[in-house]
Amino acid sequence: YTQAKALVFSKYGEPEDVLKVHTHSISPSIPSSSVLVRSLAAPINPADINTIQGTYGAKPAFTSLIGTSEPSVVPGNEGVFEVVSSGEPSSSLKKGDWVLPAIGQFGTWRTHAVDDASKFIKVNKEGLTPTQVATVSVNPCTAYKILRSYGPNAGPKAGLGMKPLEVGSGQWFIQNGANSGVGRSAIQFGKLWGLRSINVIRDRDTPEATEALKKELQDLGADVVVTESQFLSREWRDQLAEITRKGREHIGLGLNCVGGKSATAIARSLGEDGTLVSYGGMARQPVSLPVGLLIFKDIRFVGFWLSRWNERDPQGRKHMIDDILNIIREGKFRDVPIQEVKWDWETEEETLRNAVQQGLQGFRKGKGVLVF
Ligand code: NDP
Repeated sequence: YTQAKALVFSKYGEPEDVLKVHTHSISPSIPSSSVLVRSLAAPINPADINTIQGTYGAKPAFTSLIGTSEPSVVPGNEGVFEVVSSGEPSSSLKKGDWVLPAIGQFGTWRTHAVDDASKFIKVNKEGLTPTQVATVSVNPCTAYKILRSYGPNAGPKAGLGMKPLEVGSGQWFIQNGANSGVGRSAIQFGKLWGLRSINVIRDRDTPEATEALKKELQDLGADVVVTESQFLSREWRDQLAEITRKGREHIGLGLNCVGGKSATAIARSLGEDGTLVSYGGMARQPVSLPVGLLIFKDIRFVGFWLSRWNERDPQGRKHMIDDILNIIREGKFRDVPIQEVKWDWETEEETLRNAVQQGLQGFRKGKGVLVF
């Protein structure tokens, strides 16, 4: 028997109040179509915390599959596992393979899992670390998909369709939350694909710290980095005119991670026919949209949800993940800063709970990643 542990919750609430460690044992005789996997690494993403709080767009299923006394959910949407054994020798998954969940809300915050082989996708682990593979399928994929699929409104002749930014064109996009995992990925893909980016970050507590962060993002490939205070000030209009050569260079795409005033300012920075893609709401403030932008500039406002794309196009998702892992392997993509949270047999429940609770806090040194 394999001794296993999982973080679980049986009711919605703050992670520090509702998360528990559940210990169980896994029988060596697993169904023939299944595999037993052990966790290598699993990040703590903002959406995981929203899921525990009960505020996320997709509600998880509460079950007693791992023998909890009350129906529970194992949180964690993302992570990488290593195959320990397969239910049948002919399985396409072999001992030592690295796999990612093929489905959303798999429940990655656990030491082991048994599930149908079809619930996993195999990745080529060559030259990659567990944390690189564990963090590929949410943040980098979001940036990749948005930059590849969205762009300015192509007008009535195109059935009001969108024209993605053109690779190698030097076209501009603008984003807030530029220091987030998604933001850092967008900077790097943008650079790699010959696009230019304007990046909004929140002011740090000292000018030196702000400069250091600006420099860090510039080193990743950011063309322009501005602080939120600069961005929300009256002077921004003139600064923007300078960047875009008095608007001759249109900004066709905006990425909104934050909401509130910041999102409105992103919308105002867009050129005619531009599209604002909202994918996150970190400030928890609604977005207000000046009607003039809709009427006179025909700005388009759309939302993005990776889970929906993944469900509709699992093949495309696999292709994208392989492509990004190749880019990482070639050394063309720098890892987002992470803070490893070691999880071994002795790790206290409280340590894990606290690590999760901190996952929504701002001004952190890096994303928390559970490392097994
Ligand atoms: P990270 O944990 O990597 O970063 C969080 C970011 O949010 C940091 O840049 C932080 O800024 C910023 N932030 C935190 N609190 C606030 C606040 N009160 N106001 C403004 N900014 C704040 O996040 P991810 O990249 O993993 O995710 C970012 C957002 O994108 C989340 O809302 C997430 O749910 C969403 N997302 C959505 C997806 C989708 O499919 N729609 C997919 C992936 C992510 P600072 O550095 O200044 O602290």
